[in-house]
Amino acid sequence: GCCGTTDAHIRAIADAVAGLPSRPIPPADPVVTWLSGLEPLALRPDANFLMIGERTNVTGSRRFANLIVAGDYVRAVDVALDQVRGGANILDVNMDEGMLDSEQAMTRFLNLIATEPEVARIPVMIDSSKWSVIEAGLRCVQGRGIVNSISLKEGEADFLAKARTVQRYGAGVVVMAFDEIGQADTTERKVAICERAYRLLVEQVGFDPKAIIFDPNILAIATGIEEHARYAVNFIEATRLIKQRCPGAKISGGVSNLSFSFRGNDVVREAIHTAFLYHAIRAGMDMGIVNAGQLGVYEEIPPDLLEHVEDILFDRRPDATERMVEFAETVRGAGKKRELDLGWREAPVAQRLSHALVHGIVDFIEVDTEAARQDSARPLDVIEGPLMDGMKIVGDLFGAGKMFLPQVVKSARAMKRAVAYLTPFMEQEKQRPGSGARTQGKVVLATVKGDVHDIGKNIVGVVLGCNNYEIVDLGVMVPADRILDTAVAEQADIVGLSGLITPSLDEMAHVAAEMQRRGLALPLLIGGATTSRQHTAVKIAPRYAQSVVHVNDASRAVGVVSSLLDADRKRALDASNREQQERLRFIHEGRRDRPLLSLDAARANRLALAIDPADCPAPAFLGGRELTDVPVEDLIPYIDWTFFFSAWELPGKFPAILDHPERGAAARELYDNARALLDRIVRERLLTPRAVYGFWPAGSSGDDVVLFTDASHARELMRFPMLRQQAPQPDGRPNLCLADYVAPLGCGVSDHVGAFAVTSGVETDDLARSFEKDLDDYNAIMVKALADRLAEALAEYLHARARREWGYGADEHLSNEELIAERYRGIRPAFGYPACPDHTRKGSLFDLLGAPAVGIELTESFAMHPAASVSGLYFAHPAARYFTVGRIDRDQVADYAARTGMSQVEAERWLAPNLGYEPEG
Ligand code: SAH
Repeated sequence: GCCGTTDAHIRAIADAVAGLPSRPIPPADPVVTWLSGLEPLALRPDANFLMIGERTNVTGSRRFANLIVAGDYVRAVDVALDQVRGGANILDVNMDEGMLDSEQAMTRFLNLIATEPEVARIPVMIDSSKWSVIEAGLRCVQGRGIVNSISLKEGEADFLAKARTVQRYGAGVVVMAFDEIGQADTTERKVAICERAYRLLVEQVGFDPKAIIFDPNILAIATGIEEHARYAVNFIEATRLIKQRCPGAKISGGVSNLSFSFRGNDVVREAIHTAFLYHAIRAGMDMGIVNAGQLGVYEEIPPDLLEHVEDILFDRRPDATERMVEFAETVRGAGKKRELDLGWREAPVAQRLSHALVHGIVDFIEVDTEAARQDSARPLDVIEGPLMDGMKIVGDLFGAGKMFLPQVVKSARAMKRAVAYLTPFMEQEKQRPGSGARTQGKVVLATVKGDVHDIGKNIVGVVLGCNNYEIVDLGVMVPADRILDTAVAEQADIVGLSGLITPSLDEMAHVAAEMQRRGLALPLLIGGATTSRQHTAVKIAPRYAQSVVHVNDASRAVGVVSSLLDADRKRALDASNREQQERLRFIHEGRRDRPLLSLDAARANRLALAIDPADCPAPAFLGGRELTDVPVEDLIPYIDWTFFFSAWELPGKFPAILDHPERGAAARELYDNARALLDRIVRERLLTPRAVYGFWPAGSSGDDVVLFTDASHARELMRFPMLRQQAPQPDGRPNLCLADYVAPLGCGVSDHVGAFAVTSGVETDDLARSFEKDLDDYNAIMVKALADRLAEALAEYLHARARREWGYGADEHLSNEELIAERYRGIRPAFGYPACPDHTRKGSLFDLLGAPAVGIELTESFAMHPAASVSGLYFAHPAARYFTVGRIDRDQVADYAARTGMSQVEAERWLAPNLGYEPEG
């Protein structure tokens, strides 16, 4: 019921921004401005700020962009209407979007809003960085609108020519504080550029000063970059000076930019915008591009929040940003409820369903599905009609790169809910022949035995599902027999295998061999983090005569599956796939690697560190400790979000990804949803991160790292045999082994090694399942992706704590970014990674730590369960670095087998990816 209160609410905000108490508009004589739509823009005498509605901007509003790209101008006009009803005095219209014919979109939209009396009333701000689009807008806008914008960027001649055109159309103009050198960020440059532009406009063009609006650039503050700290003050000071020196001219600016650093924290963003406007308006700011629904009342900002906000606005202290960032974490929240645009609810039911699917909105899906059912002869018609049509739009947009995975998964959720609603009705009809929904084909998916990772597999399942493939998802740790029995029993069309850790590669080859032995005729798909085209070609495909295709991203899965299920396209795909695999095998066989050193030679070239006792401080305690009281909220600042986006196939560095020209909108939406779920996890304490870690007296003995119960080294507690690089190293570099970073036993210096295992929650799987039960795959995947991030964040948090407790990290001063970039002394190598690639050593690690006590177990492939877990060793030496062991030879494998108590064959199996030779048999 937000619609009924919208107008009054927004008006109250408008009043508050204007410094007014909330009350009805007084019937006083309005002030008529020079601006007009169909009606002159009249202001109440006491109003001192014009709000420029920002939502009709394809670069700023994903919803609006989608509507325009989809050609849905009727609803796009509703967005404009919402803005007007929400209190906008001027409407900013921007159609700068790569996929659009922007001139045409601008013309069409302006012509349409001209027929909407409520909107046509107010002036339009024609916003584009392309002059041809601005001219297109000028040709159709009524009354006195505003051009946004011109500047001195291209020099005076260009500036004057454009200004003359604007003048001919009788419009006003926004002048950006930009010149031949670039954007103005200091007060001096802002003022100087605006004065120069003012003189040119007034003296040479004869422009009416009242029609000049300067935008002195509102730039993001609190970014951590020192030069940015004064951006808000500079704007406010410049505003005051420009108003004095350029009589009659107005000041405007786009406000949302300012708080860019606090993306995702609406409480803080609102407070920053509100306080900024309060001060900027007093300095003379006349208008601004704002999201009216996200402005608050200055007086109502809690005093402590206001103090932090004004510290960053006015650059009042050197640590203002740091303090604000810290404080921001404590006031996180949803902020003011965004005004929902429900205009789409008025469309016919088929369009409503398609809208709900494209936008992934589940709020009305059941009501609409029921309405559609009543309009249809059979429930199946709803699926095959409007729902499939909607999903086809989603598929097309996805295929064209205009929608991204997280959005598709959200659409799939809406589809699933609709189908679930119809299922009982279809079951009632089951008796009638031909009433079952036909799918495009059936795919059995599984994460192989010994492996527990399934985010990628689940995303593939959802994407295929919403393209009308039937998915039989067997989950994780699935043995070959069960996968193949199911494929046969279900008469599946395709089998897809997934896995994350290297031992799974072997298991996949085993499944392929089993498919051959059982004489199956189904194509096999291979995917997952450590899989590769090369491995698939060399190790898996030769074992199975049917098509074996490596598909590593969900975006490609649909194309591959649909080709495999169409006889002609399958022939083509299979031929090119086989040819490529043949080529990869040929390259693999023909590889002429440089011969490896003998193990003895490699050892002779070890890294012989001078062991300085000063580099080997004693830790604050010895032995293992459990940690079960780290709250999730403490871990949030340590999250490496870049990896979160890549889990959703949105590659790019965080936070820049949020502003990516194509992926930015999808990334922001995903990020908002992730933060909302995180908030819920914190509030309802849904996850309990746990850790176990400790320090032990240790020394190296050859290539082994040996841990003892106490400083006397009398009783050996655990031994970690390590592997050494055997490839010849360039430039006199050593052949590294992790043992090189620990003081040799008997060297007279007592050294230590640490170990850790963390999980972000044994509750993750249940939580994901409860979402799945609720037909909410989107949040089921989200919770797993977040749990992974929290486990890594906990590893980072714990490592920092361990460094402090170890002594050498006591006076470390690193920002969270620096922590995430691992800019500290020491490393925490994880078994299964390149410096210690043997996963089986997690067995010793877990024995040492007693990891099962905090709920982490190992599978038969030594994957950690729950999946959101991290473990490893701590090395403190300042010279310690991550490296890659790489290829090793038979002599080292034999030596390592003896040191670990494995047979040669066993060792070769676990070390398969590292073998620099072909093992026998
Ligand atoms: N911040 C990232 C960190 C994960 S990857 C995230 O949130 O996902 C970095 C970790 O991988 C390191 O801390 C270490 O534990 C492990 N690692 C990276 N390179 C390694 C190597 N060569 N050998 C062993 N472990 C390595």
